[in-house]
Amino acid sequence: MAEQAERSSFSGLAHYNIKSLFSELPTPCYVLDEARLRQNGETLLGVQRRTGCKILLAQKAFSNFAMYPLIEGYLAGTEASGLFEARLGREEMPGGEVHVFCGAYKRSEFDEVLKYADHIVLNSLTELARYGKKAKAAGKSVGLRINPEYSTQEGHAVYDPCAPGSRLGVTREQWDKNMTPELLELIDGVHFHTLCEQDSDALEETLFAVEEKFADALKSVKWINFGGGHHITRPGYDIDRLERLVVRTHERYGAQIYLEPGEACALDAGYLVAEVLDITENGGVTNAILDASAACHMPDVLEMPYRPPLYGAGEAGEYEYTYRLGGATCLAGDVIGDYSFKAPLKTGDRLVFGDMAIYTTCKNNTFNGMPLPAIARLHESGDISMIVQFGYEDFKRRLS
Ligand SMILES: *Cc1c(COP(=O)(O)O)cnc(C)c1O
Repeated sequence: MAEQAERSSFSGLAHYNIKSLFSELPTPCYVLDEARLRQNGETLLGVQRRTGCKILLAQKAFSNFAMYPLIEGYLAGTEASGLFEARLGREEMPGGEVHVFCGAYKRSEFDEVLKYADHIVLNSLTELARYGKKAKAAGKSVGLRINPEYSTQEGHAVYDPCAPGSRLGVTREQWDKNMTPELLELIDGVHFHTLCEQDSDALEETLFAVEEKFADALKSVKWINFGGGHHITRPGYDIDRLERLVVRTHERYGAQIYLEPGEACALDAGYLVAEVLDITENGGVTNAILDASAACHMPDVLEMPYRPPLYGAGEAGEYEYTYRLGGATCLAGDVIGDYSFKAPLKTGDRLVFGDMAIYTTCKNNTFNGMPLPAIARLHESGDISMIVQFGYEDFKRRLS
């Protein structure tokens, strides 16, 4: 399983000599892989063509807009978590639809959100009462996020909007208590987002729960948004079942179906190139200290948590030389993981982490005064060009 994941994270590099490919880059550096983005796009376009659904890029996972011109041809538009992402989607993918879901909109921002958005999804009945009429008057399609209270994930409570007490989405109980005919009238569509890195079996179960709890709502809407968390471009994902579910739901309710995956759009479409700065020994553990940090440059490694794939490396003990890889920060827990190598690491060696396009560039930080990694593009021709580099001013500007 680990081996399969590793193979898929680096299969975009199969035809390259990795050492020379990345040898000229400054480190740390994210490298966005055009060919893999296109491959993901082809998969998502196929789903749309065969089912009639529309797929949006959830920008919170990946919003390197330099790549939007490439992605744009495969998707129906963008999904935003609020004002800034909505504006980015409108400006940088102008041909696409702009959908916005926000846990709660700021009054001072809502008019501007309306300028960019096509679909406005509201998170509660109080938000619907507050903004629904205004959004309708501006000609927008208004949606309500519903919460089917059906958890399909274990172990990732932080990513489970269906957990008890969740603030995300209207439960049936809240609906029954506070829905009015006037509010109902405002709703063009319903939205649910309950999955995280899941296959279509979890979507199927979720849909049963949604249909059981909200059948009346589904019958009266123009569109149903299945949210994100669909790991569609992962090897082994059951696309046939996804397509059956989309078609069945569309036929049953006559509604346009939307999906808004983030991960699936840019899965395995980026790398993080880092350099070994130092190697130390302590009580049988060999630490390799890198210029890339888990805490700063791949925060989901600590938050999710997960172990990122590393090119040419194995599990601890799998090959002869095992190292604990960590950042140069002073945070003791800034550890990427234990990896083994066929040859000893030395200062100046370059390491290439995989699947580094999603939840990285849009989530990194300069904690400890760590520089932000540069962002480069691996063209389909095999050329690499720099998109952007950061420096001291980027660090300083946010700190008063
Ligand atoms: C996070 C999120 C997404 C995208 O999720 P992925 O797991 O990246 O596919 C889509 N819609 C909403 C509302 C989200 O919160």
